[in-house]
Amino acid sequence: MAIERSTIWPYDAAGEPGQFYYSRYDHPTGVAAEQELGRLEGGDALLYASGMGATTNVLLSFARTGATVALAEGAYFGTGKLLGLLAPWGIDHVEFDQAGAPPEADIVWVESPANPTLTLPNWAALREHPGLVVCDATVSTPVYLRALDEGADIVVHSATKFLTGHHNALLGATVSRDPHTARLRELRVNAGITASPDSADALLRGLETLETRMQRHTDSATEIAARLRAHPAVENVRYPGFSGLISFDVAEPRAVETSTKLIVNATSLGGVGSSMESRHRWEGDRIPTGLLRLSVGLEPVDEIWADLEQALAAA
Ligand code: PLP
Repeated sequence: MAIERSTIWPYDAAGEPGQFYYSRYDHPTGVAAEQELGRLEGGDALLYASGMGATTNVLLSFARTGATVALAEGAYFGTGKLLGLLAPWGIDHVEFDQAGAPPEADIVWVESPANPTLTLPNWAALREHPGLVVCDATVSTPVYLRALDEGADIVVHSATKFLTGHHNALLGATVSRDPHTARLRELRVNAGITASPDSADALLRGLETLETRMQRHTDSATEIAARLRAHPAVENVRYPGFSGLISFDVAEPRAVETSTKLIVNATSLGGVGSSMESRHRWEGDRIPTGLLRLSVGLEPVDEIWADLEQALAAA
């Protein structure tokens, strides 16, 4: 399907708008990508200009003044940062250990698995919770989690990561069922944070290979996690057993991250190429000082390991 970049489409002969009329509302490439992601997740998908755009849209659509949001500890630091910025609107937030039951709150925000602590939510406890349950499933992808079926009301993705998979698109998504989808759609359109056709096209491409890529990410990350656990310079290897994200602690994280050759020392995750960074520069003391976050790519696993081994030795 060709990317349709027009922002307008003519009205019909009677002067009425058809399915597409102005691209802030909907555009053909966006709708095609939303249908495919929605099919994989078992809900209705909406695309946004970034993952944080999706997160902002969920919070502004459902958190009213006086609301409390319970956020999983160790989840993506940008979500907590955004919640802090929303405090002047009277939106409060508390953090909780997502392995246990969430506290009383209007919205419970979990992340499966949390980036970078890689903890998992407790679905049995979440199903008992009366609040709106939102799950950021960026690292699971629908290959490993259909969060709506588990009990989430809304799924959020940074599609910038595994879903597109090539570090070539900034993109976010929500997946939900009505009545939530209608509210999300209305704010998205009026806030003006609809995804671009080019990013939507990157998602269509990425979804064609998603299952194959995720299987390979998992196979390689399982092997790398096992080898890291046996390495004397490494502590606290965190890996949930699926997807491509691992975190572990070393004494000198800067020295290790700057010594890799194949593994790119950069932020973000979920690309076909491996990347790694020390998260302390971004997250400060909410995570261990020595934590390195490794996104295991699709290169031959022995080449990834050889690079890690020499970087650990050089440090
Ligand atoms: N959620 C998770 C788990 C993330 O890792 C990120 C980005 O790193 C985001 C949300 C934000 O997504 P974006 O950078 O696409 O705005």
